Amino acid sequence: MRAPDLATALDFSGEVVLITGGSRGIGAGIAQRFAQAGASVVVTYVQAAQAAEEVVRQIQAAGGRAAAMQADVTQATDVERLIAQTVATHGRLDALVNNAGIYPASTLLTMTDSEWEQVVTANLSGTHLCTQRAAQAMIELSKQQVENDASGAIINISSIEASSTAFAHSHYAAAKAGVEHYTRSAALELAAYGVRVNAVAPGLIDRPGLAQDWPDGVRRWQERVPLARLGTPADVADACLFLASPLARWITGATLTVDGGVQVAPAF
Ligand code: NAD
Repeated sequence: MRAPDLATALDFSGEVVLITGGSRGIGAGIAQRFAQAGASVVVTYVQAAQAAEEVVRQIQAAGGRAAAMQADVTQATDVERLIAQTVATHGRLDALVNNAGIYPASTLLTMTDSEWEQVVTANLSGTHLCTQRAAQAMIELSKQQVENDASGAIINISSIEASSTAFAHSHYAAAKAGVEHYTRSAALELAAYGVRVNAVAPGLIDRPGLAQDWPDGVRRWQERVPLARLGTPADVADACLFLASPLARWITGATLTVDGGVQVAPAF
């Protein structure tokens, strides 16, 4: 494969990118950056239709292309409808970002079975459902495009908690570790079809009200992080753009850590 022209390698014009949980936070930031790079983006929401429509409105106001669709990633029928509608509307699906996730705190000794189940289902099972159904569609679509030998990119949003720990997050850390190993397994099985699967592992990402809601956590982060700030949704988004682009054409099964260097901070 020829190395891509650097001037256009991050130009996603004409491509369709699906971002789960794109109604706010990191997912909304990923949608905005892909739209700025020319992609038609589809953002999903579970119940927050207004928030998702606001993300779409902002993207469109800036000259981008976007649509919102309702889908719970833990429900196979929702995921199948989402993929089918995306393909029916756009005629293609170039990239999927599995961003939807939840991270409630619950200590191991008091965690209910239902709390465990919900976190593992939303973060890990949802990633599998969307990956499998999207990959099936990407492979089917690539068969219809004679000149297209690369059929898609899937990016799973993990967390640095997949490889480090956080108090009251045993369910979440285990689910994200599962997401990273699932990424490697999916990369292996889908490579033959030209579908690359990678993960992005963010550190602490800022959101409105975070410093007020969790002053201790933010202070501890600021004291530790080598690049001396919280992350932003755009920091995570730019890693996704790279992994979805032809610049990452020979990268699959990798996890790209986006954490301001916190994982290389010294222990003492
Ligand atoms: P958020 O709570 O602001 O947004 C999560 C989005 O996922 C929401 O739009 C929500 O509706 C959606 N979602 C949740 N469950 C869903 C389901 N079953 N089906 C469909 N959509 C669902 O969270 P965020 O902070 O923006 O996090 C986004 C992703 O990044 C998550 O996977 C999270 O684990 C990961 N992450 C976040 C941070 C951080 O500091 N915020 C750090 C590392 C990783």
